[in-house]
Amino acid sequence: MIKQNPLVMIPGPTPVAEPIRQALAGPTYGHTYGPFVEIYKECLAGLKTIFQADHVVAIGGAGTLSMEMGLVNTVKAGEEVLVLTQGYFGERFVPLAKALGIVPDVLTAPAGERVHLVDVEEKLKAKKYAAVTLTHVDTSTGVMGQVAELAALAKKYDTLFILDGVCASAGVPEPMKDYGIDVVITTSQKAFGTPPGLTIVAFNDKALARREQLGTVAGYYVDWKNWLPIMDNPSLYFSTPPVNLIQALAKAVRMILDEGLEARYARHEKIARSFRAGLTALGLELVTAADAVAPTLSVIKYPSGLDDAAFRAKMEDYGIVVAGGVGPLKGKIFRVGHMGNICINELSLTLCALERSLTALGIQVLPGAAVGAACAEWQKA
Ligand code: PMP
Repeated sequence: MIKQNPLVMIPGPTPVAEPIRQALAGPTYGHTYGPFVEIYKECLAGLKTIFQADHVVAIGGAGTLSMEMGLVNTVKAGEEVLVLTQGYFGERFVPLAKALGIVPDVLTAPAGERVHLVDVEEKLKAKKYAAVTLTHVDTSTGVMGQVAELAALAKKYDTLFILDGVCASAGVPEPMKDYGIDVVITTSQKAFGTPPGLTIVAFNDKALARREQLGTVAGYYVDWKNWLPIMDNPSLYFSTPPVNLIQALAKAVRMILDEGLEARYARHEKIARSFRAGLTALGLELVTAADAVAPTLSVIKYPSGLDDAAFRAKMEDYGIVVAGGVGPLKGKIFRVGHMGNICINELSLTLCALERSLTALGIQVLPGAAVGAACAEWQKA
């Protein structure tokens, strides 16, 4: 059989649509060259629209650098932060805060569930925190947090609300003004459908005022104050931006706004429903509590006796890359990303490979059962 490049259906990086890949392959402009400056400006303006943000910084980096930027610009060493964790990536705020001398107080959700609002309120009532952090969609558990409700609680107790949108942004609504989010930290390789390599942080005037109060911060490249003049006028220089990646992101942002935010979020819901109809047809279950499932990925329990490495190797033989578990779920589950610029085509290929892999490993399923169920769901109005 002739091998093609496998379709990457992990929860990021996600498949890169051809117009975005072509934008990446554009000229490597000088970073202060007029035509590039215009592309950068358009990209930043589009990001502001997507997030309802007062300010946006988009630079070279990754999601973890965004997390660091979010904290370093808003919280002083010695101050306390309430870390709400619904999985492995929520917990990442703990070592990150500690590295900055910030004191994390952690509220951990039961496995596969959301943190309970009453528990959060109890914490906020008992003590004054400099900020609250929440992972919108935790990529390890598939749990989606209650953003609007938690942002409102943070506001009630006069605490800054920092949202990790890495596995949600551009696939799930994050309207900062409507919800009362102060900072969104995110990156390019998930629902933006752009290759990895970018740090994206959106914040409001309140978060910027906090940065001003801090005086100096424990970082230089991560300091918003060094970047904001460049974001206002990209013909100025602070540090060289990844010009090709910015062109790719600019194209992705244009595609998002052309699709329309509401339509894009609805498409993500439809993709999730269709994919899960396929999973149900095979008798597979999610680890995520039903009221907490995110539309951007599925975290699926292995049927008993199915070996993680053998299953994922078989999937790859059939042309599809899926991800294994992280943290306590390692070996017990597999993860499929279904976000960005994909549709029923990619879902069908994935579910077909899933049916074949299960069969090859001794779990009999009706060929076409999952693909049929997903297509039937997709065709509903
Ligand atoms: N937050 C979440 C929710 C993530 O899923 C990830 C990466 N998968 C990160 C943060 C870290 O992002 P990066 O790997 O780009 O540093």
